[in-house]
Amino acid sequence: MGTRKLNILFVASEVVPFAKTGGLADVAGALPKALKALGHNIIVVMPRYYKIDPSKLTKLESPLGVPMGAMGELWAGVYTSTLSGNNVPIYFIDHERYFGRGGLYEDHDGSYEDNGNRFVFFSKAALQLCKMLSFTPDIIHANDWHTAIVPLLAKTRFVHDFANAKSVLTIHNLQHQGHFHKNLMDLMEVGWEHFNAREFESFNGVNLLKGGIMHADAITTVSKKYADEIQTREFGFGLEGHIRAHSEKLFGILNGVDYDEWNPSVDNLIAQKFDVGDMDGKLTCKHDIQRHFNLEVRDDVPLIGFVGRFAEQKGISLIAGIIHGLLDMDIQIVMLGAGEKWAEEFFSDVATHRSNFGLHVGYSDALAHSIEAASDMFLMPSLFEPCGLNQIYSLRYGTLPIVRATGGLDDTIQNFDEDHEHGNGFKFFDATQEALYYTVLWAVNIYKNDKKSFLDMQERAMKQHFGWDDSAKSYEAVYNYILGFEAEKPSV
Ligand code: ADP
Repeated sequence: MGTRKLNILFVASEVVPFAKTGGLADVAGALPKALKALGHNIIVVMPRYYKIDPSKLTKLESPLGVPMGAMGELWAGVYTSTLSGNNVPIYFIDHERYFGRGGLYEDHDGSYEDNGNRFVFFSKAALQLCKMLSFTPDIIHANDWHTAIVPLLAKTRFVHDFANAKSVLTIHNLQHQGHFHKNLMDLMEVGWEHFNAREFESFNGVNLLKGGIMHADAITTVSKKYADEIQTREFGFGLEGHIRAHSEKLFGILNGVDYDEWNPSVDNLIAQKFDVGDMDGKLTCKHDIQRHFNLEVRDDVPLIGFVGRFAEQKGISLIAGIIHGLLDMDIQIVMLGAGEKWAEEFFSDVATHRSNFGLHVGYSDALAHSIEAASDMFLMPSLFEPCGLNQIYSLRYGTLPIVRATGGLDDTIQNFDEDHEHGNGFKFFDATQEALYYTVLWAVNIYKNDKKSFLDMQERAMKQHFGWDDSAKSYEAVYNYILGFEAEKPSV
């Protein structure tokens, strides 16, 4: 199949390196570069949050007018920059009233009350921007609830300019759906006829993701397993039936890793670089993190790392329930994360009482890299995990993941098989404290008593490759399919 050059509009509420709260930003910062490398013409659009360093942005001369129902037309400024590495243009929608605040979606008092207005505004502004740039997309790629209204906007309010565009909506996390008061329909300006149980209506309010699922030409999510799971009651957050009804256009495409960023052979954020066949640096990194957290500096003690949001999704209650039992083993645990207050307080308390436990409450990219490099094993007992990135980073750093078999964790981690010398990590199935405890115990036992198997597994893990190039080709196949350029449904 020869590559057909497509014009692609990629809209996202957060993009690395400009603003990030989670995996969505990693994807939005990397996938467009990989699509450009395949020969496509792609632009990225995100909000101009005021915490983004303005010296990195250039202001465009002319502002945009954005229609907002009875509020009339609101003006948006536009800034621009590029995604480094591959010169993908990125545009920032500026509107002080909506984006001139500290957080992306929330502050200490919780979610911003006007999130619905903010992201309807942003979604419309992204389409207006295309008009201003005379950029006619073949594909509009929206992400999560924030921009889930874009596919329908392109077919209604903006149809004049986007009549030939097809749309993809990627679900990075089904838990967040964008529920708002039904009056948001007025601002959306897509017509109240779309306020019904098959489209945007949910519990007499608006559910943006639900409507997006209905109107996008394809829905993707970030692993095959998660694509199956979200059609079930356990993982569907109430939308399982709706997703089942649209399953013929649902695809699971695993996220890739940006190996320029997450690679121990080039990582400037770690104490000493290392790679397969040259592993001294990993021990230096271990000592470095042991000193950083005031732990005993030892080679032979298994060091287990955790990096992630302190959210129920990440299995923090499971960890909290057995942390003292785990720390009674001859192991060390270090955790980096922030989020639920109870968890921050609980783990802080553990840190003051246990000498083999280190904690950093907060967000630190440098420390995330150092923990990946230093640890022997990585803990990720998520209750659900659409893709998960840290377990994939861990593989590259020779840090064997201990995971629950769900979503992307299940797709990327193969359980250690003692008889057949197979696997790249340790997996458990039931979301119970017992299952987690005994899996950690098992991993620690292999580390201490079967060093050869452990080191072989480490080498296998480090040699695996989860590049964006493969994922981008899968997205390309979906684009070509919905545009009618490929008759056969892609098997991604
Ligand atoms: P999610 O999107 O659900 O938060 P992912 O594993 O897909 O989970 O992506 C999380 C990303 O955020 C990873 O790149 C991870 O390293 C990063 N991250 C999460 N918490 C922190 C933190 N406290 N400090 C630094 N990086 C973090």
